[in-house]
Amino acid sequence: MSFESLGLLPELLRAVREQGYESPTPIQAQAIPLVLEGRDLMGRAQTGTGKTAGFTLPLLQRLAPQASSSASPARHPIRALILTPTRELAMQVEESVRTYGKYIPLRSTTIFGGVNINPQTKALRAGVEILVATPGRLLDHHQQGNLNFSQLEILVLDEADRMLDMGFIRDIQKIITLLPKQRQTLLFSATFTDEIKQLAAQFLRNPASVQITPQNTAAELVRQVVHPVDRERKRHLLAHLITSRKLEQVLVFTRTKHGANRLSEQLDKDGISSMAIHGNKSQPQRIKALEDFKKGAVRVLVATDIAARGLDIDQLPHVVNYELPQVPEDYIHRIGRTGRAGSEGEALSLVCVDEKGLLKDIEKLLRKELPKDIVPGYAPDPSIPAEPIQNGRQGGGGRGRGPARPARGGSAPAPRGERGRHPSRPGARGK
Ligand code: AMP
Repeated sequence: MSFESLGLLPELLRAVREQGYESPTPIQAQAIPLVLEGRDLMGRAQTGTGKTAGFTLPLLQRLAPQASSSASPARHPIRALILTPTRELAMQVEESVRTYGKYIPLRSTTIFGGVNINPQTKALRAGVEILVATPGRLLDHHQQGNLNFSQLEILVLDEADRMLDMGFIRDIQKIITLLPKQRQTLLFSATFTDEIKQLAAQFLRNPASVQITPQNTAAELVRQVVHPVDRERKRHLLAHLITSRKLEQVLVFTRTKHGANRLSEQLDKDGISSMAIHGNKSQPQRIKALEDFKKGAVRVLVATDIAARGLDIDQLPHVVNYELPQVPEDYIHRIGRTGRAGSEGEALSLVCVDEKGLLKDIEKLLRKELPKDIVPGYAPDPSIPAEPIQNGRQGGGGRGRGPARPARGGSAPAPRGERGRHPSRPGARGK
């Protein structure tokens, strides 16, 4: 299978070639022809499968013919809207639009909360054909009269499951009422839950469905190892692994933002430069952390699940699950950060006695047992009893303490319909 055989325009093939892609990934091979035909599409695929190019390439092609023939170059109506759950993903998707659309005269921009609204307003007023947005900020712009969707042809809902998890359902419904009924709609989601199916039934017309199962993505490409260890010794084992194996660019996952902060501080004390990235950090802080990490100034990035979604880091060599996620699918998302389309990666999981059940759930989802490797000197003490993991926090005396915390730690959703909606409103006002 080649990109040429998918019927893509020479301008797109050129851009793809420049990226060094040799052949389409499975999701691309399946999705591109369907989108080019104009079909609505439900795609089950997570980050790391090449899904972004899977919808971006045909989207650019469908918008391309009229782009250069526009009678008035000053007019650039919004013709495609791509909704994403997070700022990071929005930025990443728009970067893909620019990369693949390098030889196609279409304009794009991205709008998301947490940053000054004015430059975004300016970009919108100048005119863009392709808009990548998070739902809350999009509605802010709508309220300010900055958006006109009358010429919209294509809507993409990217990581729809995550948007629902984050309580964006009402926002999405509202946004869709602003769009023309006659349009092409593409929905991508890592899982097809009943909620997602309902959403699709509501907004998609006779959609084609393409599915990429975990088995033929990350789970196959990534070398996965479990290091059994005592709860209290995880931190030392992590430092030991990083220094003894000289690991660079390590993405470490914790369940809670508190845990992310604490671990990052501890690593710094151990002489390992690190930063924590999670939902509480401001946008500039996150961008800075990501940039420092990418250029190697920071060796370890400690992240919670939602903060890491859509992080634009290619071919990360090492992912460490410092704590296993409570939702087994999150494990797949996490290790999807490494071993991305074509390159091998490594995912290490530090698992203590409390997490045996979580590990079982993950192995069930993967339909295979993960190899266990006890690091010399870090064998778990069999006399230590398991403690329940409460509200994302691992035992260690944390039982029964404090008010209930969200189950997914730093990344947990607030009540539906609330979260994600204008978390960053202050300061975003005023023109
Ligand atoms: P995504 O799943 O869209 O986040 O893409 C994952 C990574 O795969 C990105 O870094 C892309 O640059 C890369 N990628 C996308 N398509 C291909 C391809 N056909 N061959 C090799 N790498 C690809």
